[in-house]
Amino acid sequence: MPEKQTGGISVNTENIFPVIKKWLYSEKDIFLREIVSNATDAITKLRRLQSLGEAESTDTPFRIDVVLDKEAKTLTVEDNGIGMTEEELKRYICSIALSGAVDFIQKYEGSGEGAKSGIIGHFGLGFYSSFMVSDTVEIHTRSHTGAPAVHWTCTAEGEYELEASDRDTVGTEVIMHISEDEAEYLNEAKIREMLGKYCAFMPVEIYFDDGSEKKEDEEETPINDVAPLWQKPASECTDEEYKSFYQKVFADFREPLFQIHINADYPLNFKGILYFPRITNQYESIEGQVKLYYNQVFVADNIKEVIPEYLLMLKGVLDCPELPLNVSRSYLQTNSYVSKVSAHIVKKVADKLVSLCKNEREQYEKVWGDIKTFVEFAAMRDNKFYDRIKDALLLPLTDGSHVTVSEYLERAKEKHENTVYYTTDTSLQAQYIAMYETEGIAVVKFDSLLDTQFASAVESHLDGVKFLRVDADPAAALKTETDAAENETLCDLFKRVSGNDKLEVKTEAFKDGEVPAILTVSEESRRMEDMMKMYRMSGGEGGDFSFPLDTKLILNVTSPLIDRIAGLLSTEQERAEALAAYIYRLALLSHRPFSAEEMQTFLKESYRILSDLSK
Ligand code: ADP
Repeated sequence: MPEKQTGGISVNTENIFPVIKKWLYSEKDIFLREIVSNATDAITKLRRLQSLGEAESTDTPFRIDVVLDKEAKTLTVEDNGIGMTEEELKRYICSIALSGAVDFIQKYEGSGEGAKSGIIGHFGLGFYSSFMVSDTVEIHTRSHTGAPAVHWTCTAEGEYELEASDRDTVGTEVIMHISEDEAEYLNEAKIREMLGKYCAFMPVEIYFDDGSEKKEDEEETPINDVAPLWQKPASECTDEEYKSFYQKVFADFREPLFQIHINADYPLNFKGILYFPRITNQYESIEGQVKLYYNQVFVADNIKEVIPEYLLMLKGVLDCPELPLNVSRSYLQTNSYVSKVSAHIVKKVADKLVSLCKNEREQYEKVWGDIKTFVEFAAMRDNKFYDRIKDALLLPLTDGSHVTVSEYLERAKEKHENTVYYTTDTSLQAQYIAMYETEGIAVVKFDSLLDTQFASAVESHLDGVKFLRVDADPAAALKTETDAAENETLCDLFKRVSGNDKLEVKTEAFKDGEVPAILTVSEESRRMEDMMKMYRMSGGEGGDFSFPLDTKLILNVTSPLIDRIAGLLSTEQERAEALAAYIYRLALLSHRPFSAEEMQTFLKESYRILSDLSK
């Protein structure tokens, strides 16, 4: 180059740098990603030319060096890629890129909304993002074509100088003079963190020199993994590799439950590994982390548009080279490619669950407890997902085994067609469960509010199917063939001793004669009450202990005790009353927790009976 040239960055740029600084304030860190990925591109291009025989091959391994010099207050990114000629530098750096930036800023200027929703953060400005943190940026570059090396220096005001450079190897060095008020970018921990986030899987080895003294024969290790596991065909990945990749990427030392390796071909063309994390603590946030990459360059976490919200508890990586590196939220929302990717992921997740259920049932049952919350939630959120996985929905039974919904209904055909009996509390409802189990009716064990909501979702999909809690409406199979005769005086007695004149009392003949009486609450009214509780609408005196409207006391006429009370009614009224009151309390005890007052009365009565017995 004959002599020093100076110039101003072309196209209407007067105020562009201050604008870049101001607008990109929230996600400044991405400048490093932009500069390092430019370096990666430069190397990829040279590699390509070499393989085509259009550039001379050398023995020097390709690498990128990120060098921090606190004294000089510079951060430098150097590559041995394709380099630029003076012409190219003028064309690529001094004008075109910037005109893209101008367009961008004109488009979004004034839309404060955009800035807030992070559009800008996802719309990088390539090379120019370096000015978010620098006063001056220098480039030394030598093209592989043998053209003379050039040195470009540009201030944050957009004034540049171009002169000959003494760079003697092919490649590019970008020196960022970090500005006074961006001193955090001279902190090695900060730079290391940024490299870890954005560059961990870039396809060229990246070395970080933080300026500290090197020990002798200390081995250089790149900060990145140039061949991340998702790039390998699933058939060649071992379980061990999946696990250690997970642990490394998510710093979660628990083993994931299982993973889904996606390798979608044309036209979707994306790869990824999604893990079902192990959630050991139920209070733990179940927010997962799905990292989105563009050709191994980190783009963003948890992009709702790519992964449906209900799958966000998954952890994993997705590499979508079809998406532009700098994507805006609004772009993603309206992009049909993105919605196809998202649909493909949902399908893969469902396929995996169905295949586990079909082919590895034992293993699937083992993890069901861990994935249930998520599967139920997803099935409730998305009917398509429900349709895909409906045969892989497990119901845990009180005996510890699991059945699918259709297996349960198949078994139910004979004795209780279309009715699924469930419990929400195996100790409190033990009495009822025992009655069902004795009759050979399987009881499903629910343990969360979501389970019951999920049950209603299943009901809405399966015509005629009902989920009934064991204490709702006793199955016909529990009763004898002959109906119980009405006994109004007996019912009145129980109503009186219960002290609740709204209580409906009736008689039934159960096959099991041991239980004298049970309390039931209709499924509907209980669900209603659960819902009210959830919305904290349950007012009124007595709070939790107030009776839902249609509570029934069912007296079992096959019980000898009930029979005897009926006999005592005409002869020893008082004894009949005491017995009835005690039986009522026992029914209450196996129905819901006692109130303090009820507990007192129950204990007092029990002591009295014991002292009578001991006489
Ligand atoms: P983009 O990377 O999106 O094209 P940039 O502003 O980051 O936009 O870069 C503009 C152009 O400058 C690149 O396309 C490339 O041709 C050239 N360039 C940037 N950095 C390098 C580099 N390290 N080596 C060679 N060329 C580069």
